Amino acid sequence: MLRLERISKNFGGLPALQEVSCEIAGGSVTALIGPNGAGKSTLINCISGILAPDQGAIRFSGQDIAGRPAHEIARLGIGRTFQNLKVFPRMTVLENVLCGLTLEAGKSWISAMLRLPSLRHRERHLRLQALEALDRFGLADKAGWPAQALAYGDRKRLELARAFVGDPLLVLLDEPVAGLNAEETAQIGLEIQKLRSEGDTLLLVEHDMDLVMSVADQVVVLDGGRCIAQGTPQEVQRNPLVLEAYLGS
Ligand code: ADP
Ligand code: MG
Repeated sequence: MLRLERISKNFGGLPALQEVSCEIAGGSVTALIGPNGAGKSTLINCISGILAPDQGAIRFSGQDIAGRPAHEIARLGIGRTFQNLKVFPRMTVLENVLCGLTLEAGKSWISAMLRLPSLRHRERHLRLQALEALDRFGLADKAGWPAQALAYGDRKRLELARAFVGDPLLVLLDEPVAGLNAEETAQIGLEIQKLRSEGDTLLLVEHDMDLVMSVADQVVVLDGGRCIAQGTPQEVQRNPLVLEAYLGS
C-alpha cells in the first residue's frame, strides 16, 4: 500500500533522514522504533505532507505523493495523530473530529455548518461519521464537551478518533500512548489490536516494546536518520545493530 524509496530530509544541512526505504502492506501493522532524534516523527511528517522530503519517492497505492500538501494526502486516505497533542481546546470534542473530515471531497464541514438546505443531508452524514469514530474510542458521551475539559488520556483518544474518522486507508500514529499510565496504555494497546484485527493498516511510532511486540507484523528501526533494521519483531529484537542503538543511546 505504501512504499518509501530512499527518503532523505535535512534540516539546515543536518540530515534527519538518510535514504530510508521500506514498505507497508495493506492490513498490516508496522512499528517504527528508534532512539530519540532518530527521525521517526520526521518520517511521519514526510508521509503525511507536513514536510516535503528533499529526495526520494513515497508511493501510496501506486502514485508518488512525496511533496504533496497535507490536505491532499489526507484526502487520499492517510490519517494521522501527532506526537504532541494537536487538539483544538475551545472546540467541542465532536467539532475536533469533524476537522478530520474537513478536506474530504472538497466539501468542508464549515459549509455544512452554514446549514445550506442542500447540505443538511451532508451535515447529518458527517456528524454520524464523527460520532461513530468517537464511539469507537469510547468518547461518544463526551461529544458535546469542550475539548479542553477532557483529561489527557481522553485527549489522546480524541486524536485517535480524528485520525480514524472517515475510514482512512492508512493511519500514522506518532506515540499514541506517550504520557499515559500503565492502565491507559494497556487500554489503547487493546484498541490498536482491535483495529488490526479489523484489517486497518497502521504505521505506529512507539517506545513501549511490549506494545510493539504484541501488535506489530513488521518493525522498522531508525537510528540517526538511517534505517538500520527491518523485519518481524522477533528478528529485530535479536539484531545486534538494534541492541547497540538502544544500549548505546
Ligand atoms: P524522533 O521522532 O525519532 O525523536 P525527529 O524526527 O523528531 O526524531 O527528529 C529527527 C532529527 O531532526 C532531530 O535531530 C531533530 O532535532 C531534527 N528536527 C526535527 N524536526 C526539525 C525541525 N522542524 N527543524 C529542525 N530540526 C528538526
Ligand atoms: Mg518523535
